[in-house]
Amino acid sequence: MFKKILIANRGEIAVRILRACRELGIRSAAVFSDVDRKSLHVRLADEAYPIGPAAARESYLNIEKIIGVARRAGCDAIHPGYGFLAENAALPRACTEAGITFIGPSAESMEALGSKTAGRQLARRSDVPIVPGTNDPIEKPEQAHALAQSMGFPVLLKAVAGGGGKGMRLVLSSAEFAPAYRDASSEAMNAFGDPRVYLEKYLDKPRHIEIQILADSHGRVVSLGERECSVQRRHQKVIEEAPSPVVTPDLRKKMGDAAVRLARAGRYTNAGTVEFLVDAHLNFYFLEVNTRLQVEHPVTEQVTGLDLVKLQIAIAAGHRLPFAWETIIPRGNAMEVRLYAEDPENNFFPSPGKILSRQVPSGPGIRMDDGVYEGWTVPNDYDPLLSKLIAWGNSREETIARLRRALEESTVVGIKTNIALFRRLLTEPDFLRNEIHTRWLDQLLARKNHSPSVDEGRSAAAAAIAAAVYQATRADRQSAALSDAASQQKSSRWKAEGRRNQVDRMP
Ligand code: ADP
Repeated sequence: MFKKILIANRGEIAVRILRACRELGIRSAAVFSDVDRKSLHVRLADEAYPIGPAAARESYLNIEKIIGVARRAGCDAIHPGYGFLAENAALPRACTEAGITFIGPSAESMEALGSKTAGRQLARRSDVPIVPGTNDPIEKPEQAHALAQSMGFPVLLKAVAGGGGKGMRLVLSSAEFAPAYRDASSEAMNAFGDPRVYLEKYLDKPRHIEIQILADSHGRVVSLGERECSVQRRHQKVIEEAPSPVVTPDLRKKMGDAAVRLARAGRYTNAGTVEFLVDAHLNFYFLEVNTRLQVEHPVTEQVTGLDLVKLQIAIAAGHRLPFAWETIIPRGNAMEVRLYAEDPENNFFPSPGKILSRQVPSGPGIRMDDGVYEGWTVPNDYDPLLSKLIAWGNSREETIARLRRALEESTVVGIKTNIALFRRLLTEPDFLRNEIHTRWLDQLLARKNHSPSVDEGRSAAAAAIAAAVYQATRADRQSAALSDAASQQKSSRWKAEGRRNQVDRMP
């Protein structure tokens, strides 16, 4: 087993990984940028090393610096988490050169499955149904335009290197094709340094259902079942649950088998996720493979009883998976909400700043994967995900009741969060009846136009009381709080990004 693992990430996922290391008796080495010096992952790790300025390119995305620290600190493995370098094949290559184990797939599998068009080609060869469209990047836009016409509009133009919805354009009619192609391509170039795009038929109101797989280096590949991630805002996941309320044992087996076939074809090892869109008739279509741990992995952990991060580490260390898929039967239901420092009342603008006080929920069936603490200042340089709140229950109803109860217990003072929005979503009749699809939330938000609910009023009152208590009992921190509030008035990069609707989301 490894002696010391470098965690090439920050926030809640870095904390999640170092917790697994500690349980396994492995030392953890954190890295941090200038603005993360006081972050939770730095506080909790066994060792922590500075890697430069806030700009991710000069710190968390800098492979040379990460490998340099791993060498100096005597680490024998690197865990990339998600986001940042997690899907960059240059990192596993650099690890191999440095004689350090990368906790994830090989660079070759990452390339074979990570690019959307390469993934589609492999899926077709592996007899896995794909969304109709092109399997190669578009070379001649006129040909793609003709294909779009023959498939029928609407169609989607998508970046080959895509992620986070970047470089994606919905094309409703033939007249929109040429400008949409130019926009998608230039956005893809800006975001990924790769302007190539391809074409997919736009499915009407599908569900997003994905399969978690694990593959060891001895040839065993297992499916751990599905996660339903259909509650999305602008194609980004907001609530995830396992199992999916619409997936039957037969469909679970079929989708699991398809995911395993694809992983085998790509000689995949470690944890990965095969994403599908599912239509109203429960036909499923391959979307893409994420060659890393997902943000929403805890819901699978809660219903399977497995620790995916510990299993990732064990697989990277060459251990055999100790179970077959037949033995994995989901128990109960789990649901996750992503708590963000953002303002749903103001177009979801990021809301960095100091967390003056907070009440963290607990109690039966509640798990909090936290990345922050009271008194810490959320920087404006990164994705504003604070924490993930996960509930488990014997049934979907019990899980929702627990999650609602936990959200009522939750308060954060000092920054805006999306907690009140979740309180509202979890009472929506469509959500409770499970009549949802990937555009459901966008349509709901557009319809309701954010009229404040009773719940939000209640949360504002709770926040006001908490703020008053805070002011009375912590006068010593008051001046710091005030100066921080003043600094919030200054221009924030996250806010500017938000205004351009370009907020980078974790995948
Ligand atoms: P990204 O990697 O940029 O996040 P994905 O390919 O994973 O993009 O798709 C993200 C989301 O976009 C999906 O969950 C779904 O809501 C929507 N989407 C993607 N492709 C299609 C499609 N062909 N038809 C309808 N919706 C789609």
